[in-house]
This record gives sequence, C-alpha cells and structure tokens, in this order.
Amino acid sequence: MSGSRIMTCSRCGKDWNISINTRIPQNGYICPHCTSKERFERRSAWMENVIKTLQSLRIGKIFEEYDLQNEIAAIFDKVGIHYEKEYYLGTGSRVDFLTNSGVAVEVKKGKPNRTRLVDQINRYAEYEEVKAIVIVVETSLRIPVTQTTNGKPCAVVGLQKLWGIAL
Ligand SMILES: [Zn+2]
Repeated sequence: MSGSRIMTCSRCGKDWNISINTRIPQNGYICPHCTSKERFERRSAWMENVIKTLQSLRIGKIFEEYDLQNEIAAIFDKVGIHYEKEYYLGTGSRVDFLTNSGVAVEVKKGKPNRTRLVDQINRYAEYEEVKAIVIVVETSLRIPVTQTTNGKPCAVVGLQKLWGIAL
C-alpha cells in the first residue's frame, strides 16, 4: 500500500500501520496507544502530588469549609503547587481549587450526598481545563469515586482518618 508503512512501537513492540508522512522521533516510534498511556501516567503524577499534599493536612478540630479551604491554600503555597481558588469553570460550576496542572479540588463538609457529588464531578469533568479531580471530604465515602464518566481520574481524600488522636 502506498502512503503507509509498518513501524514497530518502541514501547509495546507491536507493529502499526502508519502514514508515510508520520515523523519518527530519534529514539523510536511510539504508537498512539502508548503515547496516550504515557500522557495519562504523567497526569497521574501531578494528581498524586496533590493527593499526597492534601493527605499531609492535619486538622485538629471540627472545621468550617471556609477554614479548610484556607488550610489547603496554605499547604499548596508551602509545597509550591500553583492554583486558582474558586475557579470559575462555567455556569453553576465553580470549583474550590484548580491547580495549574489541571487538578480540580473540591471540598465537602459533612457527609456528602453521593449521587449529587458524582453529578457535580461529572459536570466539572466536562471542562477541558479539568484533567483530574480530587475531592476532600470530612468522612470518607463508602464507595470511592475513581473515575468520571468521561474517563478523567478522580480520587477522594478523607480527612477524618487523618485527625487521629487530635480529636
Ligand atoms: Zn505502543
């Protein structure tokens, strides 16, 4: 077939039929599948950093949602995570934080209604600038949300577990 050729992916070792015009990087061809996988893993690393930082929060008393937001802002500043607070995504969608790596952080006080929370997350996930979502909740969710309906990664950080003996 003219116009295409077979290239072996340097990551997965599979043969791919690609256009003759596709530019091959010096360190070898990487198929679309492996490219998107790598992009996803890089994205996860940003998300992990946000999760780790939030897990290091120590709240010694029952908090107000507003106080917790200030604590999160302070700890993000400390570790050098850049963010916008109360980021406006669109009508009816204002997320508590959006990091410059695209992690939306939403804070929920009390025991959130799971259905309503999932709806909210999926609404946020529709926006291009949201790459991943982390929900900070007072009590951990019985069924954790791990992914939005359009496939963006999602994590829940429960604070109650972190209170420990300080309570
Ligand atoms: Zn591959």
